[in-house]
Amino acid sequence: MAWTRRALLERVGAIGGAGAAYLAMEAMGVTARTPPGAENFALPRGSGNGRSVLILGAGIAGLVSAYELSQAGYAVKVIEARDRIGGRAWTIRGRQRIVQSGRADQYSDFSPGLYFNAGAARIPATHRAILGYARRFGVKLEPFVNANRSAGWDFGGTVQREGRMVNDVRSQIVELLAKAIDQHALDRAVPKGELEMIRQFLTPYGSLDGKGDYVPDGRNGFAVDPGGYAQAPVALAPLGWAQLLPSDAIILPYLFDTIPEMQAAMVQPVGGMDRIAYAIYDRVKPLVQLNSPISAIRQVGGRVVIEHGPGKQASSADYCICTLPMPILARIPSDFSAAKKKALTSVDYVKSVKLAFQGPRFWETDDNIFGGPAWTDRMNENILYPSHDLGAPLGVLVAAYCAGWTRRENPQAFAALSHEERFRISLESVEAMHPGRSKLLSRGVTVAWGLTPYSEGVGAQWPDFGAETGTRGPDYAELLKPEGPIVFAGEHLSYLPTWQEGAALSAQAALKVLQSMVREHAA
Ligand SMILES: Cc1cc2nc3c(=O)[nH]c(=O)nc-3n(C[C@H](O)[C@H](O)[C@H](O)COP(=O)(O)OP(=O)(O)OC[C@H]3O[C@@H](n4cnc5c(N)ncnc54)[C@H](O)[C@@H]3O)c2cc1C
Repeated sequence: MAWTRRALLERVGAIGGAGAAYLAMEAMGVTARTPPGAENFALPRGSGNGRSVLILGAGIAGLVSAYELSQAGYAVKVIEARDRIGGRAWTIRGRQRIVQSGRADQYSDFSPGLYFNAGAARIPATHRAILGYARRFGVKLEPFVNANRSAGWDFGGTVQREGRMVNDVRSQIVELLAKAIDQHALDRAVPKGELEMIRQFLTPYGSLDGKGDYVPDGRNGFAVDPGGYAQAPVALAPLGWAQLLPSDAIILPYLFDTIPEMQAAMVQPVGGMDRIAYAIYDRVKPLVQLNSPISAIRQVGGRVVIEHGPGKQASSADYCICTLPMPILARIPSDFSAAKKKALTSVDYVKSVKLAFQGPRFWETDDNIFGGPAWTDRMNENILYPSHDLGAPLGVLVAAYCAGWTRRENPQAFAALSHEERFRISLESVEAMHPGRSKLLSRGVTVAWGLTPYSEGVGAQWPDFGAETGTRGPDYAELLKPEGPIVFAGEHLSYLPTWQEGAALSAQAALKVLQSMVREHAA
C-alpha cells in the first residue's frame, strides 16, 4: 500500500469504506445489502445452476470470486498468467525467481523459515472481509507492529528515536497553545470556561511546568536511564523546532499511526501474507489454470471467449469476472467499448519498490527494536523490522519500502536505479540507523512493482485516493459497468484501492452484479 503526502492529507479523517461501491450496485438494480464481513457473504446456494463463469486472474479478487461462485453452484474456471496464485499478495521464500521487466532475473536465497512479503504485508482491524476469509479458512494471525517508538527517524542527516520526535513535537505544540491561552490570544475564540478546562489539560498532556514551559519528564527518552540503585533518571533535553522539522519530508511519519488503516497494532498471517490467498486457493485448486496468460477477450453470441496460454487456447463461458490490473487489461485485445478502453487508461498505478536482506537480528539484540517501521528522508524511505519470530537467530529486514511516503517522486526515481544502487542506498540507510551492522546483511532482493509483469504497479491511484467522496467521475463509473457478460472486479474498482480488502469487497460486489444478470436472463 502506498501513500503520497497529498493522498495522506486527503485521507486523514476519512475512514475508507465500500459505501460508494454498494451505491453503484444499487444503481444497477442490486438492492440486497450485505455487511462486508466474509462470513456474512454468500450467494444463494444452487443459484448458479451449472452456468459457466470464467475468472480472469487468481489474485484475491479472482480467488474470492472463484470460491463464492463455486459454492453457489456455478461451473468455474480461473485463468492465471503466473506459475503461482496470489497476485500482489506475494510472499517470497527460499529460492524463487524474481522477474523484472528490462532487468536481469534475481533469485532469492532466504534460509528456511524466512520470508519476504514483497507486496501486501499488514491488515488493519477495519478490513472485515479479508479478515473474515482468514477466519473462515483457519489462517492463523499474529500481531503486526506498525508503529514503534524505539525505532529511528533519519532526517536531515540526523538519527533520532521516534519516541523523542513524537513526544517533543507534541509538547512543543502544547507549549505554544498554553502560551497563547495565557496571553489571552484565544479569549475571543473559545468560551472562558472551556479555555480554563483546556489549559488545565495541557499541563500534564504536554509535560508543562507552572509557567507553561515544556519540561521533559522522560516520555521523550532518557539521557540517564532509570537505574537499579542510586541512578535517578535524567530526561533528554527537548529538541527545538529546527530539529523536529528538519525537512518537509517528515510530515507523514508524524501522522502515520493516526491514519485509520495504519493503526499501531495491525495483524499479519503467520508464515507470510500469501497464506490467506492460498487458503482460498485450497478450496478451488482444481478450477485454476496457471501459466496461462490471457491474450484476447471477446464476446461471441452473448458468451465470452478468452484466448489464453502459450498455444492461444480458447475457453468460453456464459459469464466472466475480469480482475486483471488496469494497465494490463488496457493492452489486451478486446471488443470492449471505446469508453471502457479509454477509462482503463485513466488512472496511474502507484509504482512502489521494496527491498529486503536477511541477517542476524542485530536490531533486536543490540537495539531492542521489535517490529515496526523506521523512517528516513533517504530514497529507501522505510525500514521494516519483522514483527514475528522475535528472538530467532535470523530475520528478514525490509531495508526499503519506497512508496512516496516522504517524497512523491521517490518511487519512480528509486525504481529507475540498478538493483546494486538500490542495495547500496538501503545499506547506507541501515548503517545510519545501526552503525557498524549493515555489513551483517546479505542475500538482498528487490521488487519494483512498476517493473513486475502481470502487476505493473501497486494499485490504482485515484485522484480522490482514500476519500469516500464518490466523485471519481465518468471514467470510474464506466469501469464499474459490465461489458455484455463480463463483470469487472479488483482493488482498482473499490474505495479501498491498494488493499486486499478492496479486492475482496470488489469481488463480492461484482458477484452480486453477476447474480442479478443471471436473474434477469432467467426472467
Ligand atoms: C508493495 C505492495 C504493498 C501492499 N501492501 C498491502 C498491505 O499491507 N495490506 C493489504 O491488504 N494490501 C496491500 N497491498 C495491496 C494488495 O496486495 C492488492 O490490493 C491486492 O492483492 C490486489 O488483488 P487483486 O485481485 O485486485 O489483483 P492482483 O493481486 O493483481 O490479481 C490479478 C491477477 O491477474 C493476473 N494476471 C495479470 N495479467 C494477466 C494476464 N494477461 N493473463 C492472466 N492473468 C493475469 C495476475 O498474475 C494476478 O494474479 C499491497 C500491494 C503492494 C504491491
